[in-house]
Amino acid sequence: MDEYEAIKRIEEEFEHDIKNASHESELERLKVKYLGRKEGLVTGLLKAIPQIDPAKRKDYGRAVNQLKEKVTNGITRRLRELQEEKVQRKLLEEKVNVHLPGRPFPVGAVHPISRVMDEIIDIFLSMGFEVEEGPEIEDDYHNFEGLNIPKDHPARDMQDTFYIEGGRFLLRTHTSPVQIRVMEVKTPPLKVIAPGRVYRRDFDVSHSPMFHQVEGFAVDVDISFAHLKGVISEFLRTFFLLDIPVRFRPSYFPFTEPSAEVDIGCVFCGGEGCRICGEGWIEVMGCGMIHPEVLKNVHLDPEKFSGFAFGVGVERLTMLKYSISDIRLFYEGNLDFLEQFR
Ligand SMILES: [Zn+2]
Repeated sequence: MDEYEAIKRIEEEFEHDIKNASHESELERLKVKYLGRKEGLVTGLLKAIPQIDPAKRKDYGRAVNQLKEKVTNGITRRLRELQEEKVQRKLLEEKVNVHLPGRPFPVGAVHPISRVMDEIIDIFLSMGFEVEEGPEIEDDYHNFEGLNIPKDHPARDMQDTFYIEGGRFLLRTHTSPVQIRVMEVKTPPLKVIAPGRVYRRDFDVSHSPMFHQVEGFAVDVDISFAHLKGVISEFLRTFFLLDIPVRFRPSYFPFTEPSAEVDIGCVFCGGEGCRICGEGWIEVMGCGMIHPEVLKNVHLDPEKFSGFAFGVGVERLTMLKYSISDIRLFYEGNLDFLEQFR
């Protein structure tokens, strides 16, 4: 067989093989088949060069090398084609459908309780009060005794809570202990509000074992009930954005004397009387003049100093402002409810 015929045969075989190679791994096999160092078909031709008649050797060698180049380039080109096809296929599969509806981006919002708490704080800051905070785990003295609620006092029954270390500590039942803590270290004049979480052993549509209060108090010489009425009325009218009537009704708290419950004209019926209010008034908070015993407990002379104190339930005010009927909605994490406050 003529040497050139062998070259031609291998060339034709390669052209057939390369056309049908449809995967990168097949190209690897072709590389071995034609260019492999031991058994490669083209390698075999190269190895045969020294046996060729010296007169023909130069031309023959050139022909074999051209074939080798053709095979090398052919494999490289086909490899590039296959990779390109792969990319195109992938692009086609992952084509973005611009007609699909977009995915909504969830936007968070401040919880209604936090929002109302901030609003309450803002109103009192505008009246010159400053914010103080106290611990949620309180001792018996600051939560009860210092506030004129001794061990056997019936008021303790209404403020049953969670006790820690056999009753030495407890989860505070109100924010009033901050009064004691502030007056222990600061001297009048004092105008302070104390927002925060409080705890009681209650759970129903209008009570939660954890809820929020804002305590407020002012102590100075010549503080009177008129100051208290002015501050509370101003606060409620600013908060409800209405010129609502405010009523002070005599009441009892161990740590104030005299004490009062504060009612506002019903925000639902405008004071006409309805299912929610009964006779046109809604109770919103408690207040009074700080009891002389409480002042004595923090070494202030009740003959010289006087003060008022009040406490508002943040949940209660939020429920009234937004007409919410069940306190548990605040803590269930139900987005249908919470999204309304965005
Ligand atoms: Zn009403």
